[in-house]
Parts: sequence; structure tokens; C-alpha cells
Amino acid sequence: MEKQDKVMLTGVRPSGNITLGNYLGAIKNFVTRQNLYKSYIFVADLHAITSPRNPDELREAVNDCMAMYLACGVNPEQTTIFRQSEVLEHGVLGFIMTFQTHMGELSRMTQFKLKSQNMGKNGIDTGLFVYPPLMAADILLYNTDMVPVGLDQQQHVELTRDLAQRFNKRYGNTFNEPDVYIAPVGNKILNLQNPAEKMNKSDGQNLGTIFLMDDLKLVRKKIMSAVTDCEAVVRFDEENKPGISNLISILSAITGEKIPDIEKRFAGRGYGDFKREVADVVCDLLDKIQTDYKRFKKPEVLNKILSDGATKARVVASETLERAKLALGLK
Ligand code: ATP
Ligand code: MG
Repeated sequence: MEKQDKVMLTGVRPSGNITLGNYLGAIKNFVTRQNLYKSYIFVADLHAITSPRNPDELREAVNDCMAMYLACGVNPEQTTIFRQSEVLEHGVLGFIMTFQTHMGELSRMTQFKLKSQNMGKNGIDTGLFVYPPLMAADILLYNTDMVPVGLDQQQHVELTRDLAQRFNKRYGNTFNEPDVYIAPVGNKILNLQNPAEKMNKSDGQNLGTIFLMDDLKLVRKKIMSAVTDCEAVVRFDEENKPGISNLISILSAITGEKIPDIEKRFAGRGYGDFKREVADVVCDLLDKIQTDYKRFKKPEVLNKILSDGATKARVVASETLERAKLALGLK
């Protein structure tokens, strides 16, 4: 049962503009449940260092991410919103959790395997290798029960659970063991131009990625030119029709219409009609988000929310860190 004494937490890296994938895989599922839990959402700026960028761009991306949380419906009266680097306990517990983690476990992480391929030439940063224990700390600091994330992050939340269990077994009961929440639809939105790959915010501007702040004409163009297949039947089949299945998932995740009902409704109709409807639905959603974003992207609004959020987050994070230090004999 979902109860208000249970804790929910999620975060996004300010490593680029937020995408439709981030919204459907994580933020939307958080927003619709925020009143049922004690809720925390953070801007994962320490994690953004694994994709290095110009400091001014990073600063701007943190503000964008915050304003986007608010525009997507995160309510600061129900949810503690904070910036990861402002709560120093994340770094300390992250370091501690690294010592509970085996090299083999980290080498098996799919995100590491995928992202390290792109780093090849100048060597692979250790940060990319050891960020999962920092993510474990992010989650464990708040006694989290439930973490809504996209499918790509399921492995990291499961690792967090293993690390919490391992620590509790070695040093006595210290951490709550979190569950992962993966939405049944929209948990892995694919790149519209290359449906063999997930949509990633750090991929930069390309026709395959829909950013929540994209001009609506461009969004329509991206959807109308999405790669499909030559069968011309709107049918959900992830293996043989990844492009069309991706668009069906997007439509279903936004409107709540069941996938078989979408298939029935579009029986005998072409891809053009179908894509136009997907574009209409996505544009309606983005239009609303973009209007709200402009209201929230103001330093006086963001700074106050962030500083209140960090103060609240520190109280819980410092209690958990003290408990862990005591268990380890560091106090
Ligand atoms: P990056 O390229 O920087 O890794 P990202 O798009 O993967 O960007 P993250 O900040 O790593 O974004 O992840 C934020 C949240 O969005 C996570 O919960 C992640 O699982 C979810 N998410 C990311 N991409 C998708 C996607 N394509 N579909 C569904 N959920 C996604
Ligand atoms: Mg990612």
C-alpha cells in the first residue's frame, strides 16, 4: 500500500535539456504520486560531472532542471526539492558506499558499459565507474522506500538494495532497503531516428530526441519524420516494429489509453494519421509545460525553493550519515 509515511525519491542529471523520455520514465510517475509519499526530488549535479561541460552551462542546466521539475508539476509544498551538491552528506556516504561495492558489480552495470565506450580516447574516468555507489547514497540518505526511474536505471536501484543489505548485514541495521518503480508504459522511450537506442538528454540536438523545451513546430517535425517500418499497420511489437511501438508507448503513456485500444482505433489507417495524433498529444503536453516553465525560471523563485529544500534535506541526510558512521565505528 502507498502511504504518506513512506518515502519516494528521484533525480535527474543536469547534463542536458530534459527529454520526453525523462518526463515519461521518471518525472511524471513521481508527480502523480507525490501526495501519497514523503517526497524528495533532487538535481543530480554531482552526477553531471561524469559528462564534463563548461561551468556556466552546468550552472544554467541546474536552474533549467529545477524550473522544469516545477513546470512538470512537482509541488514544493508537497515535495522537498534540492540540489545534490548542497547536501554534503551525499559525497561522504557515497564514499562510504564505494567500500561496500565490488569491482565486478560495477563492471556489470550496463550504463557503464555503454557510456565508457564513448570515452575511449582519453581514458575512462573513474567517476563513471563509481557513480552507482553515490547513487546508492542519494537514495539511502532519505530512508527511501520507492524510487521511480526509467528502465535504464533499474539495475542501479537494485544495486542500491544489495549494498544496503550488505551494509546492514555487516554493521547492523542502518539503511532502509528501497524498491524500484518502473512504469508499465513509457519506461524506455527510444530515439525517434534510431529506435535501437534509448532517447538520451546528453545526445545533443538531433531529430531523434524530443526536448521538453523544443519549439512545437520542431517537435511535430521530429515525430512526423520518426523512423518506422513498411508494414503500415499500427501494431505494438517492440522487437519487429520498434519505431511504431515507441510512438504507441508515447501516446499511451501520455493519454492513459490502453495499447490494444490504440491499435483498434488505428486499424486500417495509415502511419500519417497515427503520427499526427501522437504529435498533437505531445505538443499539447509540451505547450502547457513550456508556459509553466517560463513562470518558474526566475532566480527569486528557484533560489528560495532550493535553499528551503536543502535545509530540509540536510536534517534527514545528516541523521542517516550519523547512523552509518556510528555503525562503522567512525564515531
Ligand atoms: P544522460 O544522457 O545524461 O544519461 P538521460 O536522458 O539518460 O541523460 P538521466 O539524468 O540519466 O537522463 O536519467 C533521469 C531519469 O530519466 C532516470 O530515472 C532515467 O531512468 C530516466 N530516463 C532517461 N532516459 C529515459 C528514456 N529514454 N525513457 C524513459 N526513462 C528515461
Ligand atoms: Mg542516463
